[in-house]
Amino acid sequence: MSTITENVLEAKRRIAAAAAAAGRDGAQVRLLAATKMNGPEAIREAIAAGVDICAENRVQEFLEKSAVNAYAGCDVQFIGHLQKNKVKSLVGAVSLIHSVDSEGLMREIDRRARDRGIVQAVLLEVNIGGEDSKSGAAPEELDALLACAGLYPHIQVRGLMAIPPIVSEKGGNLKHFRRMFELFVDIREKKYDNVSMDELSMGMSTDYEDAVRCGATIVRLGTALFGPRHYD
Ligand SMILES: *Cc1c(COP(=O)(O)O)cnc(C)c1O
Repeated sequence: MSTITENVLEAKRRIAAAAAAAGRDGAQVRLLAATKMNGPEAIREAIAAGVDICAENRVQEFLEKSAVNAYAGCDVQFIGHLQKNKVKSLVGAVSLIHSVDSEGLMREIDRRARDRGIVQAVLLEVNIGGEDSKSGAAPEELDALLACAGLYPHIQVRGLMAIPPIVSEKGGNLKHFRRMFELFVDIREKKYDNVSMDELSMGMSTDYEDAVRCGATIVRLGTALFGPRHYD
């Protein structure tokens, strides 16, 4: 069995165990492979091994790999910071855009989705650690952003996404995951137009079990599936 296959199976086992320990149904948590910097062959192996979703964080990489059918048979989503001039290439080509954090981006996605006659599902990205270096809306800005979703009938806000700070200690992001779950539940109870809180995208290679315990419905793993990325 290849390393990638083993890693996928191990991640699925851990997700199921963390869900069970928290009294959740493991089937409610989807495993997203963050495929950046990995080629079509690695991606195909991960799909064959049973990842639920593949996702890129750069539009260019997504287009290149799509052109060679790297994601065949798998749901494909987008998790990276998104510039308005790249929206057109993504709308309708991915099932979910995780990284919407401004009304301007909502408006542009809505416009491109309307041109294509579709409704594009999106998540709102929350800068839960309040880091200057990160994109995402501040928790205090969410209410205004959700309230304007009703103006854009060609998008649907399906939930929230977060990339919490990089921490070294175990459990270091539990407070952020718990806060995300609270926001998720609060918003679900408020009922905004065009908004349904179905998906909570959080947890990466080093902390996904904590995220599952705190209510994640999508965990995004790169390194844990494919090994370390080599930036050079
Ligand atoms: C790369 C990436 C991940 C996965 O990171 P790992 O630490 O390698 O698991 C998750 N989310 C986003 C948005 C990413 O860009």
